[in-house]
Amino acid sequence: MGELGQGNINGWELEKNMMIFNLTRPKPRLPESFFWTWDQSTNWMLDDPGLQNFGSSNIYLKKPGTFVKDYERLSDFAAGLGVKGIFVWGFLRDSHGGVEAAKRIASYAAGKGVVMMPGAGTTSYGGLYYEGNHPYNLKTFIEKNPSAKTSGGICPSNPIYKEWILEGLDWMFETFQIGGINFENGDFFICDCDACKAHKENWPRDDPDFFRMQALANKLPLEHLKKQADKNKDLLITWATYTGFLPGIEKGRMTMTPYMGCGRPALFDDIKELHSTQWTLTRMVRQNPLALTKFMDDGVPEELFDNECWPKGLEPPVGNGVGFIHQGSQWINGSRYNQIISTIKESCLRAYMSGLKGVSIHGEVTSMHVPNSLNYLAFSHFIHWPEDTLRDFGRKTLGEVFDNEAEGERFIELVAHWDFGTLTDGEKAEITSKRKELVALVQVGADADMGRNMHRFRFWCWLQKMAIGEKEMHTASFY
Ligand SMILES: [Zn+2]
Repeated sequence: MGELGQGNINGWELEKNMMIFNLTRPKPRLPESFFWTWDQSTNWMLDDPGLQNFGSSNIYLKKPGTFVKDYERLSDFAAGLGVKGIFVWGFLRDSHGGVEAAKRIASYAAGKGVVMMPGAGTTSYGGLYYEGNHPYNLKTFIEKNPSAKTSGGICPSNPIYKEWILEGLDWMFETFQIGGINFENGDFFICDCDACKAHKENWPRDDPDFFRMQALANKLPLEHLKKQADKNKDLLITWATYTGFLPGIEKGRMTMTPYMGCGRPALFDDIKELHSTQWTLTRMVRQNPLALTKFMDDGVPEELFDNECWPKGLEPPVGNGVGFIHQGSQWINGSRYNQIISTIKESCLRAYMSGLKGVSIHGEVTSMHVPNSLNYLAFSHFIHWPEDTLRDFGRKTLGEVFDNEAEGERFIELVAHWDFGTLTDGEKAEITSKRKELVALVQVGADADMGRNMHRFRFWCWLQKMAIGEKEMHTASFY
């Protein structure tokens, strides 16, 4: 970041001032935890006219250099929080530099000890090369092999598909310094061609068709990657089920359903190498998050288990699972810019207690936006210490950010009361006077070391605005 110049703060402090934190973390209890991202809406560099903050099949409008910088900065950020890695959808596109740019971000991340995992469409979602004229791009492939085309993607029974996807995977692992791959076959995609229908005859009758399609699409790629996984024990290969792991059927709704649609999907007995199964926890966790104050001194509050979508003791049908939540993103209730600490704490705790090895949240919004910054810090905390209280988070994590344990603890206590609507007048006055003290540090003539104080300044000013006034100013959604 030397190009930004030195100014009044030195290089190390400048990095801190970008809200990139370097925290002391032990070995995480949820080691396979990731930031989930789409390239077009991953905005860690804010001065690009092509910024977008939504979407999953968008074109990329930012400058190619911004793609590289966004992911370099997010890699620095993940490294500082002890978050293992980053899922990247749109890893490969002609519009942001194709193979060369992807090589750069993957090796940059690897150099920081961060695992970069491209999103890989098998029978849908662009294939391995998301957008552009490339042999492993889905559209390019279908144009050359029209017999493999089916409504919504590629037919997983087609022998040309099988050859193409395996060849493509070998190319991915040879070409890029990636630490794994994240498969999706197309959100409940179903091919109803004759070959795929015939496959059903030798398949358990009551198994959901979309899981059968996942078996057809994912079996060969997952089994093929065994040799890569044997070579590199740290490699993480995940595949989306699109559902939670609650046995049973939800009528009338599929998106983010907590239910598997059956007791045990048959693919778990069909695929020999499952690697890591990615469960959607979005609607397994409470839809009305527990008040933050409930977590203040209780890391495992009993009310959390009063939840029919995630009964206490429930575990997925197979081990080696990871979880994914959409809260705090554009994908659920427009919550991309919201503070969701309660849901993050709950997801990490419940995932850990159910034997999952990691949790993923979105990592698209810059940490310069304070609510997201708090989410990221809470995520870092609870993937390392899922059973901790909110007070522990304040002391250990915010305490390190503020260089002051007591201040970190007090800050989160006040955030919890603001969130629950129980701030007293005395507490409001306390927040206002804290803000005044920090604002004085940025006045001309002040002889302050802002390198140490900018985080405190940003966090307290945000809380003052949220708790006392001018709400709209600080929830603007233009990142
Ligand atoms: Zn088919």
